[in-house]
Amino acid sequence: DPAAPGIDPRRLTDLLARERAAWTEGRPKARALHERAKLSQVHGTPQHWMNQFPPPVPLIVDRAAGARLYDTDGHEYADFGLGATAALWGHNHPAVVAALRDQLDRGLTTLWPHEDHVWVTEELGRRFGLPFWQFTVSASDANRFALLLARVATGRQRILVFHHAYHGSVEQTCAVLTGSGVAAPPGVDPNGVDVRQTTKVVEFNDLPALERALEPRDVAAVLAEPVMTNGGAVIRPDPGFHAALRDLTRRTGTLLVVDETQTIPAGPGGCTGELGLEPDLITMGKCLAGGVPAGVYGMSDSVAAATARYTATGDGGLGSTLAGGALAVRAMRAVLGEVMTERTYTHMNRLASRYESDVDSVIAHHGLPWHVGRLGGRVSYAFTPTPPRNAGQVYSGGGSAVREALWLYLANRGVVLNGMSGAALFSPMTEEADVDLHGELFGAVIAELVGR
Ligand code: PMP
Repeated sequence: DPAAPGIDPRRLTDLLARERAAWTEGRPKARALHERAKLSQVHGTPQHWMNQFPPPVPLIVDRAAGARLYDTDGHEYADFGLGATAALWGHNHPAVVAALRDQLDRGLTTLWPHEDHVWVTEELGRRFGLPFWQFTVSASDANRFALLLARVATGRQRILVFHHAYHGSVEQTCAVLTGSGVAAPPGVDPNGVDVRQTTKVVEFNDLPALERALEPRDVAAVLAEPVMTNGGAVIRPDPGFHAALRDLTRRTGTLLVVDETQTIPAGPGGCTGELGLEPDLITMGKCLAGGVPAGVYGMSDSVAAATARYTATGDGGLGSTLAGGALAVRAMRAVLGEVMTERTYTHMNRLASRYESDVDSVIAHHGLPWHVGRLGGRVSYAFTPTPPRNAGQVYSGGGSAVREALWLYLANRGVVLNGMSGAALFSPMTEEADVDLHGELFGAVIAELVGR
């Protein structure tokens, strides 16, 4: 992986070695726990891919509160990772905690509907514009069921995703474009699902390629993030892209599924609300129940009719025993009713835009050919001189060693970013002082890396 443009590779190597050593040195308890974990967990982490996070020994959490993490060795961090949006409202938002405390005495899960389910589906309809909703345990499941229903509704088998999109652990969506066509992403064994059979892939913002892919009318659904957040950047649709995407999908009888899982920081109705989108299905999860596992998918009248057909005889394989469990639905009601408000977004946007301008002024000061992007309460940078238009541009820029160095430098001094992408998220519990600290540290680490 080449160093990001503008960075001195020798300085980067030295800084990385120093910060790795400092991290490991300062965490004897985490080291011992990690050694124990290696005997009962793949790679010594509870989910195998966590071993790709930057620190050589995992950050082992003792507790989390507000927008802060406290590790097992006594270190405290301002948490801008926020569980990759699952903790977007902060780790113990008072409204969520009060709802959960109350629900603990009223039953955790019953496999019967509660009043809260009706309140939540009505509210989702009001915010996101689709009439019918169902519950899942995760956003991955919401995507899995949305794609299945799109196949049922259209009688077609294939799906289309954008290059390097991530939609969760949904096998047929893990596909990228290569010189020789569609393939599993680098590092994913092609012997899982043969994505050449299931999936078409085009670059985001590439309308001619999209049209060519949909014209044979064999694609059940396009599954898309409305603004791409994976690939460690904010990748915005070109002006007119969404209108053309909707037009092309309608014209070819293809359903449009909008995945809002990572774009809830854009506004109280996600990007669907902010950009006025009209998808056939919407999927989301993560932060909806304030950290309790939960997902939902919304659908149009005609997809709802297909759902009713598919499941008319009983077991349809859609759903899970714990989907829409009482605890999750009570928490969702608290989040939608009391947390996901204009006031919350005003705070998130204000701090996120300060953070964005701190990063922007350091980039400008050193003349680095980097770009910082913001989507409401989410900020991340790409190692491209102009705003990236697709994930191909982001990945060809390299820079993973720089991301690792920045993560470690900041974390060794009390600031945690997302372990995978380096993105920062802003919660209603994030404090001004956390943003100040990040701004100072970011200025210092870049000065060291460029040698000025
Ligand atoms: N959609 C998007 C856009 C995501 O980024 C993710 C996870 N990062 C998912 C869906 C799946 O969420 P989960 O892993 O919680 O099922």
